[in-house]
Amino acid sequence: VYKVYCEDLYNGDKHAGKILVHRNITKEFEVDQMKSEFVSTVSHELRTPLASILGFTELMMNRELKAERQKKYLATILSEANRLTALINDFLDVQRMEAGKQTYEKKYIELKPILNNVINHQQVHTQLHHFTINSDTDNDVILGDKLKIEQIFTNLINNAIKYSPDGGTIKVNLYNKNDRLCVDIEDMGLGIPEEALDKIFTKFYRVDNTDLRRIGGTGLGLAIVQEIVKAHLGDITVRSTYGQGSIFTVSFPSVPSVIDNEAGDDGND
Ligand code: ADP
Repeated sequence: VYKVYCEDLYNGDKHAGKILVHRNITKEFEVDQMKSEFVSTVSHELRTPLASILGFTELMMNRELKAERQKKYLATILSEANRLTALINDFLDVQRMEAGKQTYEKKYIELKPILNNVINHQQVHTQLHHFTINSDTDNDVILGDKLKIEQIFTNLINNAIKYSPDGGTIKVNLYNKNDRLCVDIEDMGLGIPEEALDKIFTKFYRVDNTDLRRIGGTGLGLAIVQEIVKAHLGDITVRSTYGQGSIFTVSFPSVPSVIDNEAGDDGND
């Protein structure tokens, strides 16, 4: 992107002519575009839950409602308020990570109980999806920050649910490969177009298609996941067939089994 404009040239006080300036403003243009996308995403994502909190609160104040209906509205208000909290936490996390201020409290932890916990928590949000967990390893210990590791799998499993609107099975597979402990999260959902595969980990990026526009999101989840994975010397990759489903694979350095015993039952709730 170029900005073209005319500038007067002076020799001392004397007008000496005009020059045509072509300035490459691609970078500024991209930054501006990112900023305006950010503002519109943030305001949309914050406004939607706020509108329903305000709407239902007003309804409850202005009408005589049966207890059952009141309870239903309160449940909606609670879940929308939780959504707002999660969004704000995501924004803060990204800011902290970018400022290099994120801290990690690493301990030896077992992955399998963490995956089971995350699945149990996420299962509450869906009646359509079926979960399977398969573990093909007897050493599932990594050196990690338990809450942050939970966040990785919460985001990935939440996406697997969100982008499989018609349900299907979500398979979680834990195994060892070349001294690494790997977790596959596989869904049978919408899939990701090939040209988007290397962009989805970029902050605020969301695949642009009408089906997906109806599914709420900030485009921050995978950027956060990638940061946490990196901070644990891990790696994340994705394979996907558009229209059929996706497999996200996260891997961490395995911890030698001598240290396994120290992990205790740290992973359990
Ligand atoms: P969000 O879900 O809030 O948009 P993410 O950073 O978690 O943000 O994901 C970025 C984009 O990657 C999503 O908008 C979606 O287009 C795509 N995506 C992520 N996970 C999946 C998945 N399991 N199936 C299909 N598309 C996905």
